[in-house]
Parts: sequence; structure tokens; C-alpha cells
Amino acid sequence: MHRALFALPVLIALTACTSGGDKDGGPNVETAMTEGPLTTQRGSIVTAQNGRALVPIELTGDEVSFMVTAKSDTYLSLEAILDENGEQVVNWKDWLSSKSTQSLTSAFYIYGYDSIVNWPVRDVDRALNAGTWTAQFTATDENYRYVNDVLVDFVVQTKTDDNLDEGVVKVRLVWAEGLDNRNDLQQAVEGALSRWSEVWAAAGLTIEVTEVSSDLDPELTVDSVAPFPNDEVDYGGADDDVTVVIGETINGTRGLFGQSGGIPGTLVSTANAAVYISWLTNAGRDGEFQEYEVLLLGETMAHEVGHYLGLFHPVEASYDYYDALEDTVECTSWSKCESELGENLMFPYPLCSLTDCEPQGGLTGDQSAVMNLYTGAL
Ligand SMILES: [Zn+2]
Repeated sequence: MHRALFALPVLIALTACTSGGDKDGGPNVETAMTEGPLTTQRGSIVTAQNGRALVPIELTGDEVSFMVTAKSDTYLSLEAILDENGEQVVNWKDWLSSKSTQSLTSAFYIYGYDSIVNWPVRDVDRALNAGTWTAQFTATDENYRYVNDVLVDFVVQTKTDDNLDEGVVKVRLVWAEGLDNRNDLQQAVEGALSRWSEVWAAAGLTIEVTEVSSDLDPELTVDSVAPFPNDEVDYGGADDDVTVVIGETINGTRGLFGQSGGIPGTLVSTANAAVYISWLTNAGRDGEFQEYEVLLLGETMAHEVGHYLGLFHPVEASYDYYDALEDTVECTSWSKCESELGENLMFPYPLCSLTDCEPQGGLTGDQSAVMNLYTGAL
């Protein structure tokens, strides 16, 4: 049973030529940049030239990371990021070729009606210079053909941060209807939040949790292609928090522990702006939390929100696909991977017997760096 279901979607290569050059109209920036360690600026742009939307990112040189969230009413994916000189710093073709065995960001996937990139992803990707950077998104239809003249709304967020060894992540914990009235669940989640805090402390990260009641159906539903094309799911959250929904099940199955709305997920409202947690799957067959299952719930939350902050599994359960980090080994078999990476928080599934689970809270230095570079870790 996989803890996280953010499976790699079917990837269809875009083969049409991508001529550069003029676009029909420039972006329309609608709001002034807010001030503080986290800035937020909203705007919109119409796609042209092979479905392209070129989102400008104004940097002063003080920023350590930025996040761009693009959303539309058709599929969006990231093609490239260009620096202040127009040089490409990353291109999807280098990561989605048939030879690539590593994942960097789900922004490249043609997965939903939103696309989110946080840059830099890793320590080795660092150095943001002053000037206008560009995030180049592409709009495609359900047949993976480029679509022009589509309105793309974008949100550019930047952060300044003197200390990338520690940070605070604001978590908006949303209870599905009626679940927060149950003492057993309240207690289990309290214990789980404590385990989550303990695990993330190794990365220097603290969580600040605000709990919210809701009338959401406890049977959470997620569609792998375009989860909620017309709905926005951060349930009234602010532009600096991560939404985590506690439900009973995800898609009615007891095989799913949790699911992240992206790798990374966004801080603003889109159709995928949440992490979903199934309390029932984490509580095991009898549906009652034993002590080890409370720890498992905490590790599930820490794992899923780890995805949301940009972490991939160090190895996928096919044992031939990896994250893009140097200090997580590239193991090649079921037995080797479980022994070499089984204690890592981001291992793709929990290692449990009928009465216990192995502690699974380890984070490497490179993983901690990815989490601290997330624009919402302040
Ligand atoms: Zn996972």
C-alpha cells in the first residue's frame, strides 16, 4: 500500500516546435506586491505562440526563493524558467526524457488545471540574481495539443529569509464534517501533530497549526487528472498557509493513507491546493488508533506535507526512479531499498507488521534544504 498516491501521470511529450519570439500581449499585473518576508503579486496573461504564457518574476536580489502558481480552465505545465538574462536555468526536457530517472518538480507534468513551481528546488539550484526572471508555462487541451488565447491567472510569491536552516510552516488543519466532534480522533490527531513536529524538527522546521471545522464530506474524493476543475480547495486559507484536510477515506478506499496536491503544492487557492489525510487507513483494520498508529498518522502527515514542500520519494516503489538529491542513495531492489531507505520519511510506503510500524522519520541534509527553500517555509 502506497502511502502517497502522487503517482507519475502518463507523460505525453509535446513534439510541436517551440519557436520563441513575440507574444501577442504582455502580462497584466493586477495587484501590487505585498511587503514582508513573503511577497504576493497576482496577474493574468493570455496564451499565444504554442500555448505559451510567460509569467514575469521581478527580483531585487534579496530573495532566496520564489513560487509561481498558474491556473486556467485547461491543462497547464511548466516548460522552463529563464533567469534575468533570458538564459534557461531549467527545462522540462532535461527531466522528462526517456533517459531521465529522477524527478525535480511536478510542475512539468500535464496533470491538472494548475501548475506550481518553487525555485530553486535544491541547494545546488541556488542563486537568484536581481532582474526579471520568467516562468514559461504551456496550455494544452485534453488531447495534449497547445491552446492559444486562454486566460492564465498567475500568482508570483517571493521570500527573503536570512536563515535557511530553520523556518515556520503555517498549517490550516481542516476537519471534514463531524470528525472534530470525536474525542478519539481529536486525541489521535493531537498525538500525530506531535510526531510530525518531532520529525520536521530535524529539518529545522516548526509547524504552526490552526484547526478549522468544515462541512466537507468525510469521503474525500480526488481525481488523478483534474481533481476539482472548477472548485478551489484551500477553504478560506491565507496566502501563506498549507491546507491539510482530515477525512475518513480518500476515494472510498482504505488503501490510501494520504495524498498531496502537488510536488510542490501551492500556498494560494487552486483546485489542488491541499493535502488529504485518511484517518481510517492510518487507524488500521479495526479503525481504532493504537499508539503506533498515532505515530504512523503523524508520519503520514509529515510525509504528505513533505511532498507539498517539494520532496519526492527517494525511490519509487518500482525501484528504478528517484528524487534528484545527491544524499539519498539510488537503491535498485525491494530488499536493498527497504534496508537503505526504509527509515526515511519520504520512503514510498510504511513498513508495518500487524502490530507495529518501523519508525520512519529520517530526513537527509538535501531533503531538509528542499523543505527550507519552499517559499512558504518562513
Ligand atoms: Zn509519498
